Formats: sequence, structure tokens, C-alpha cells
Amino acid sequence: MNECLFCKIVAKEIPAEIIYESGRTLAFRDTNPQAPTHVLVIPKGHHANAAMLADADDGLADDVLKTAHAVAVQEGVADSGYRVVFNTGPGAGQTIFHVHAHVLGGRDLTWPPG
Ligand code: 5GP
Ligand code: ZN
Repeated sequence: MNECLFCKIVAKEIPAEIIYESGRTLAFRDTNPQAPTHVLVIPKGHHANAAMLADADDGLADDVLKTAHAVAVQEGVADSGYRVVFNTGPGAGQTIFHVHAHVLGGRDLTWPPG
């Protein structure tokens, strides 16, 4: 049995506020938002992290980035600026090991991040 939380969201076994979907990707709001727009973009297939996604196959990482931009446009933050973050590994704060891009926007984002 697949115990992955985000696979369960893809399978509609766990509810999520889905705001965008493409053939191979899904975007839904983070339940603990860190900015007015905080959306998670995932490939529907399971890949543990960004490196595995990059290795996965033809253009899946591209699809995730295209969906991240489509989300930013839909949320109205594409012009003001937004951030796409892949926390990769526990030391970088990754807690769910189904790769996800955080799309953050709608406020001033400082640099460097914490
Ligand atoms: P990470 O820490 O792995 O980079 O990001 C995981 C993100 O998933 C966190 O921002 C956390 O708030 C979010 N999250 C955890 N559980 C759920 C959930 O059940 N539903 C949704 N939509 N987001 C979740
Ligand atoms: Zn998964």
C-alpha cells in the first residue's frame, strides 16, 4: 500500500484544495501557507525529490515548472514576482518525500531565505 500523502491527494483519497491540473501535474494550496499565495505543484507520479524528478523521464520536470508558472499567472503574482522552491533533503526542510515545488507570492519575499 502506498503511504505517500501526496500520492493519496492525487488518488483523491485525501482532500486538497486543487487549483490547477495538467496531464501529469497537480497544484493545490499548502495547508500551512507562508505567503498569500502558497501552492504546491507535484507530478502525479511518485518521485522522491527534485533530483529524482530530473532523472525521471522526458520533460516531467519541465511540466512541473510550467505548471508552477501557470499557477503564478492564475494567482495574479506572475508580474509582481514569485518564488519556486524545492526543499531537497531533510537538512533543507523537506518533510514530504514526494517532490513538490512551493510556489510563493503575494508579499515581499526576502533574500536569503531562512
Ligand atoms: P516540505 O517541508 O516537504 O518542503 O513541504 C511540505 C509542505 O506540505 C509543507 O509546507 C506543509 O505545510 C504541506 N503539507 C503537509 N501536509 C499537508 C496536507 O495534508 N495537505 C496540504 N495541502 N499540504 C500539506
Ligand atoms: Zn507520492
